[in-house]
Amino acid sequence: MLRGSPERELAAWWEAEAVAATKAQAAKEQVRVDPGAAGEPERKAGEEQPKEPAPAPPCAAEEGDARIPPRPPPTLPVSLAKPEPASGLCPHGKSRIKGRSCKRSSGQPDEYCSLRPVTVDSSKARTSLDALKISIRQLKWKEFPFGRRLPCDIYWHGVSFHDNDIFSGQVNKFPGMTEMVRKITLSRAVRIMQNLFPEEYNFYPRSWILPDEFQLFVAQVQMVKDGDPSWKPTFIVKPDSGCQGDGIYLIKDPSDIRLSGTLQSRPAVVQEYICKPLLIDKLKFDIRLYVLLKSLEPLEIYIAKDGLSRFCTEPYQEPNPKNLHHIFMHLTNYSLNVHSGNFVHSDSTSTGSKRTFSSILYRLSSKGVDIKKVWSDIISLVIKTVIALTPQLKVFHQSDIPAGRPGPTCFQILGFDILLMKNLKPILLEVNANPSMRIEHEQELSPGVFENVPSLVDEEVKVAVIRDTLRLMDPLKKKRESHFPDIYMDRKHRFPPVSERMSSLKLQLSKLSIVRSQLLGKSLASKENPPHSDLASASQGNANPDAHLPSICLKQVFPKYAKQFNYLRLVDRMANLFIRFLGIKGTMKLGPTGFRTFIRSCKLSSSSLSMAAVDILYIDITRRWNSMTMDQRDSGTHHQPLMSHGGQTGMGSTFLFLLLKGQDGGGG
Ligand code: ADP
Repeated sequence: MLRGSPERELAAWWEAEAVAATKAQAAKEQVRVDPGAAGEPERKAGEEQPKEPAPAPPCAAEEGDARIPPRPPPTLPVSLAKPEPASGLCPHGKSRIKGRSCKRSSGQPDEYCSLRPVTVDSSKARTSLDALKISIRQLKWKEFPFGRRLPCDIYWHGVSFHDNDIFSGQVNKFPGMTEMVRKITLSRAVRIMQNLFPEEYNFYPRSWILPDEFQLFVAQVQMVKDGDPSWKPTFIVKPDSGCQGDGIYLIKDPSDIRLSGTLQSRPAVVQEYICKPLLIDKLKFDIRLYVLLKSLEPLEIYIAKDGLSRFCTEPYQEPNPKNLHHIFMHLTNYSLNVHSGNFVHSDSTSTGSKRTFSSILYRLSSKGVDIKKVWSDIISLVIKTVIALTPQLKVFHQSDIPAGRPGPTCFQILGFDILLMKNLKPILLEVNANPSMRIEHEQELSPGVFENVPSLVDEEVKVAVIRDTLRLMDPLKKKRESHFPDIYMDRKHRFPPVSERMSSLKLQLSKLSIVRSQLLGKSLASKENPPHSDLASASQGNANPDAHLPSICLKQVFPKYAKQFNYLRLVDRMANLFIRFLGIKGTMKLGPTGFRTFIRSCKLSSSSLSMAAVDILYIDITRRWNSMTMDQRDSGTHHQPLMSHGGQTGMGSTFLFLLLKGQDGGGG
């Protein structure tokens, strides 16, 4: 990217945040004693949860409560604490109905009822349960770990939108996201954009879908080799249904692909292997960044200021026939490397085999790297990738939650896996619909005896991401803001100039010393609710629930930078059109009549495209798509639910693709 380019500028505001985070990191590291050192025993924990839905545990206790001892709830002095209402009931004993607050007999709205805590159903949270529980406690919201008869404000799902039937409130998954980010679907979606905007989408390695595109792969590789005999590429083969590095292998030549047997039954993506990654301590590493898709329409994207860096455990060498199978050298997956004797679990966030991304940035900036540019490129990559995913996501959304029908609103935390090349260019490896939110790892106490212990680095990053996602989605925020406008002023007003702060601080300190004397003997030392939080809200005389929380770790990047990226939303606009002509609500299939109406309304028919030709085109698209889904059915790799969703959406994307190709019916 050129100096002074708009993309470069978009990271300017980020710099202050990123630098502050890295400085904070540095300060922390100076005071922190680092007991983590080489030679820790081998651990067996797997990090990422499988993408394939697994049977849900019967209740939250099975996978959550027991692992991390629950922290004590915040202690408020009796005189200051508000009475806790019974679940689902206001203090007057009336059941709460969504969107309505109960009235006192005087007819006045009950302030407490309208400021009830946000309710979260965590019964399907699975492996994110521990981090979710901490987040809910920090926010002083109300958790329903076993579900609730009445509707909740927020439903937290561990796997997909369909974990539970929901008709109102908000849910932390979009319909179709799991299908959209599978390796093959993601590669297809990005390729459509690469065809349209090759320069803008050069952050994704060239990929081919196997077995369908095997011949194309062979031919294209040969063509490049013919043009440049010195080109000695390496490719990485990744099974579509795989995760955690499962089934991945490197090859030097297309003929090395294990075509026999497995590939037919296990479609895969073969991709150019990035041979020159950036190394730290001679090790390859990747970045897991958390991205919040807050809304699809209008598009709203947030990026977490910090993420994780996962390290290989064997010094890196460029691939050669002797080291191709060294997984600890080439694959950064935590789930693989944790089994290496060299894996280092560290209590520090800046050492060991899993670190915070901010610690990496700090290290790079201390070596003179322009981390502003690194962030800028990462933000572009994230926005462009989400833009590639949105067209089909909208079709899924329309099918599950048709416009105008009652249904929940959706948001989702995505895990972006990014590799930095030696020249610091970020490369997208994959997107995870269910990034692991586990905050503990297994420790071997004695041979064969394992215990789950909290992982500092995971907790630091993941709790902040979940908590701040909830804060951004808070359905009662507006209500609270209107009740306490003075305490919900923007940050600029909340943090007046230093001189003003100093005098008001002195005043507060004297107030606090009075409150403190009342609290004498009571321990308020809790990491989740630091002493000052309760004291601060006490001194304010009301319940600003955000007073004790740090600033939000998620930063908006879209629509903030919409101007620079809107021109890429071409397919997105076509998806909007497609959805308009779907006809019957709740379906993803465009019928022949809908297709004709579409062609007519868009004035696409002409002397060279008669309506008869339009009908033939429709039949052709349908036939192509049906044969494609038949192949998938034969291969047995897709579940029935995926068939009914993926198939029909694919129909939509084939349609869009054909339009982009100029209605020639070729190249599907
Ligand atoms: P999985 O879902 O199984 O983790 P990934 O696509 O994330 O599959 O790949 C696993 C690991 O392989 C990545 O974490 C990364 O270390 C490495 N990897 C994947 N694709 C590439 C690539 N194109 N070039 C270099 N390394 C890659």
